[in-house]
Amino acid sequence: MKVIKIGGGCLTDSETIVHILELVAHRGQGNIFVLSALNGVTDTLIEGMKGALASEDNIPHLISHLRDKHRSVARHLISNYKDYEEFTRDLDKSLSELERYYYGLNFTREITARLTDVISSYGERFAVELFASGLNCRGINATYCMPEKIGLSTDGKFGDATAKLRKTSKNLQFHLTPLINERMVIFVPGFFGVSEQGDITTFGRGGSDYSAAVVAVAMQAEVLEVWKDVDGFMSADPKFVPEAQLIPILSYEEAAELSYFGAKILHPRTVEPLRKSKLKISIKNTVNPDGPGSLITAKSPRPKHVIKSVAHDTDISIIKVHASGVGARPGILALVAGKLTESEINIKSVVTSQTCISLLLAREDLEAGYLALKHLKPRPFRRLERVDDVALVGIVGEGLAQRKGIAARCFEAVAGCNVNVEMISFGPSRVALYFLVKNKDLHSAVNAIHSTFFSVPRCQ
Ligand code: ASP
Ligand code: MG
Repeated sequence: MKVIKIGGGCLTDSETIVHILELVAHRGQGNIFVLSALNGVTDTLIEGMKGALASEDNIPHLISHLRDKHRSVARHLISNYKDYEEFTRDLDKSLSELERYYYGLNFTREITARLTDVISSYGERFAVELFASGLNCRGINATYCMPEKIGLSTDGKFGDATAKLRKTSKNLQFHLTPLINERMVIFVPGFFGVSEQGDITTFGRGGSDYSAAVVAVAMQAEVLEVWKDVDGFMSADPKFVPEAQLIPILSYEEAAELSYFGAKILHPRTVEPLRKSKLKISIKNTVNPDGPGSLITAKSPRPKHVIKSVAHDTDISIIKVHASGVGARPGILALVAGKLTESEINIKSVVTSQTCISLLLAREDLEAGYLALKHLKPRPFRRLERVDDVALVGIVGEGLAQRKGIAARCFEAVAGCNVNVEMISFGPSRVALYFLVKNKDLHSAVNAIHSTFFSVPRCQ
């Protein structure tokens, strides 16, 4: 039995969704599908909260937009009248629940973390209703199972929950095994689970990949397939480096590093539940489902040049905390990090020296992070500095830390293009080396490294 995750990125227009449903119909029996919301729906739900808060007059329009969107896809997917009727009944029921949440939000005049998670879970709910009806009308036995019904259990942290694996396994085996034995196609909405207190809790944006990993482990699937609109992990972003190549096999470690920075192929936490059971992830392109894709396993072969990929991330900014004797003063790092955490700001990475702590943040967090630290009393630093014209480059490959000369070759390539390296982090990860360059130099740096390791002579 496989667990197959279908990403929202490929659930775009009706034609594409019909094609994917046909794939499910051909390959689906006896498997579990974890679905994302249709493309853009989660954003609409989340944006809708602001609209509902501003005025209740915005709610009817929002609800009818969601109704039209799903109905219009359903008309292409569900050819017989009875199944279409049944779907619209289910959809209307879910929409009227959702509508009540929006009115509640307007009435109480606040957007809470609890409400945000419940509301944002609806995109996935609509998607599974749609797919199950689409298969039923083709004469294939299909059903959907909501996480709160089958006990996909979480630790209750809103917006960033973690699944309770043992409990979830027991519950899912109990509820889903009989359906699998009947060769049913099962759809489970991704992105959320339910806490001990019965609260809907999401796994963070893009978290359906993580859901799928949890379901795969819980059900001891033979593999987790992730269906996307791309072939898999690439040796660089093809929009940046046209000659980028597909990476056929990666280790968990390599996939995790590449997911944290740059490659938006998998949610960074996807490998977390899979590691222990050594369950493989196979990335497949729905446009090319028989292509090799990328396979993520416990071990991956080491190419001669060691490096598998050159990733980059432009959503980077730095707060430099200048203070003397960083390494000799107990608690300074905790103070700074604690203040940012208190302000709900995520630290992407930290690089320190004896005179400076550099905190890497997402761009949108820079200002808030700066203000939070500025007001620290007593001031544990001499000066604060903001930097926002940088980008991060990472090279990733198992064996990178053991093989001599990799870093030298990387920086030689960068220097050869006349690009200055602003900051380096090497050592914390066995498989990755990161550094920062000025934004304007990013393209040249990535291309130079790629041609060095993937032997395409090119430098600009
Ligand atoms: N629909 C959710 C999001 O857009 C989860 C996912 O797609 O993985 O973040
Ligand atoms: Mg996604």
